[in-house]
Amino acid sequence: MQYNPVTAEVIRALQEAVGQKYVKTEPAVLEVYKKDESMTPSFWSLPEAVVLPASAQEVAAVMKIANRCKVPVTPRSAGTSVSCGAVPAYGGIVLLMERLNKILELNEEGMYMTVEAGVRTGDIQNLARSKGLLYAGDPCSADSCLIGGNLATNAGGNKAVRYGTTRHQVYAVEVVLPNGKITNLGGVLKKCSTGFCLEQLIIGSEGTLGIITKATVKLVPLCPYHIDVLAVFTNLAAATALVPPLVKAGINPTSVEFMDNNFVRSASDYSEVRLPHYEDGFYDIITIETFNEAELDEKMEKLASICEACGATDVVEADERVWKVRRNCLESTRAFSKVATSEDLVVPVVRIAECIRHLAAESRKYDFRIFCLAHAGDGNLHFQILKGDMSDDEWERQTEAFRAVAYPYVYSLGGRLSGEHGIGLKRLKYMEKYTDPVELELMKTIKRAIDPNRILNPGKVMDFESSKEM
Ligand SMILES: Cc1cc2nc3c(=O)[nH]c(=O)nc-3n(C[C@H](O)[C@H](O)[C@H](O)COP(=O)(O)OP(=O)(O)OC[C@H]3O[C@@H](n4cnc5c(N)ncnc54)[C@H](O)[C@@H]3O)c2cc1C
Repeated sequence: MQYNPVTAEVIRALQEAVGQKYVKTEPAVLEVYKKDESMTPSFWSLPEAVVLPASAQEVAAVMKIANRCKVPVTPRSAGTSVSCGAVPAYGGIVLLMERLNKILELNEEGMYMTVEAGVRTGDIQNLARSKGLLYAGDPCSADSCLIGGNLATNAGGNKAVRYGTTRHQVYAVEVVLPNGKITNLGGVLKKCSTGFCLEQLIIGSEGTLGIITKATVKLVPLCPYHIDVLAVFTNLAAATALVPPLVKAGINPTSVEFMDNNFVRSASDYSEVRLPHYEDGFYDIITIETFNEAELDEKMEKLASICEACGATDVVEADERVWKVRRNCLESTRAFSKVATSEDLVVPVVRIAECIRHLAAESRKYDFRIFCLAHAGDGNLHFQILKGDMSDDEWERQTEAFRAVAYPYVYSLGGRLSGEHGIGLKRLKYMEKYTDPVELELMKTIKRAIDPNRILNPGKVMDFESSKEM
């Protein structure tokens, strides 16, 4: 697909649409928006303009200009994507959503909140909590990411075992289509069989089908009783073996997070915290929430006996320090390497233990360093692979060799490439390679129908270029 440059005429039209000061072309600004939080500079790419609309109508006006002039548009919320989702692969316009930042309604009786797409996820969580309610979407980046970005990626996080991912927290979305039309999809309904479930098509589409400008999210009663437990193991096999019995025991945990010893040490150092078995521990952090104390005691007893049966060295109540360490995992690796790639593999929950063990053993054949953590209760494992001082060529060769073993293995278990971070630009070629061709063609057909000029977030999720559709 050929795109046009952002000319002076396009800039003038954008300025008329959103106001002069909200169209940025200064090199220092463009430099900021060429990247996101992915540590893979080879994918970064400069935009030609950064545009900050303040309403769905302004987003619609920008999309109409972009369509008319054939200029690509990359929606961007907080840019915490680790899959190069917010990188403007073909230049053009980065559409920054941060000015759509109003909380429009909190309905305590109906237990929902309507917000503009640029509201920070942590602010939604905090407001809900102040009313005795829970917004259950909880990515580790909640302090910085925006709800629109979470919806676009179907973000997971720490509470997905019990409450599901972001798509399970949503009643309705307002969306601006690539042609500039505005539509409202879904409703505050417990059930609905009225046509296609289009809001769920938009959620998780990584900004390739429409720009989310507003969302109505579900809230649930906050459990008054809860406990965080840190189960410490001194070997990988025992720490991962905990997951299947735990999930089967009927405890219905809110979180089951796993950290290998590399992450235990790096994130503890980064957080300036010392926890048990810093030198040799593998951690499982488990959260249980209940509506009454007796149920909490009963579940805690069950949990303790499962941990003991699996060979835990320590089972202690976890305080905020443990979560601080967990939240700082990704950040902490920057001290070891400025270049890294994070894998986001997902397998059926019952296969997570063998998957971690198998891939950890495979990773020892390579020169890179690999750190592993997992949202173990939902089968989602993250390998952070660190380049360190390897040469570019070796890094490329060895990470490719690892993926050539890891990805077919994960698919053989019934897994997929990404559990929560999305395909973005980073996994594009693997998406082509490992996805069922009929499924892939279905996705491309939908994309062509909604965005015939392919101006919205081109180069993400589906690869039209190498399939020779120019
Ligand atoms: C330290 C750290 C911890 C993280 N922990 C987690 C975690 O626990 N779970 C998890 O799932 N992810 C996690 N992530 C990844 C990231 O935070 C999520 O993918 C998050 O949902 C991205 O939100 P954002 O606001 O930063 O969106 P961005 O990074 O700006 O955008 C993400 C994608 O969505 C598209 N997009 C953004 N806004 C819109 C919109 N309004 N309409 C349509 N498309 C849009 C963009 O084009 C891009 O493709 C983590 C990242 C970091 C750096």
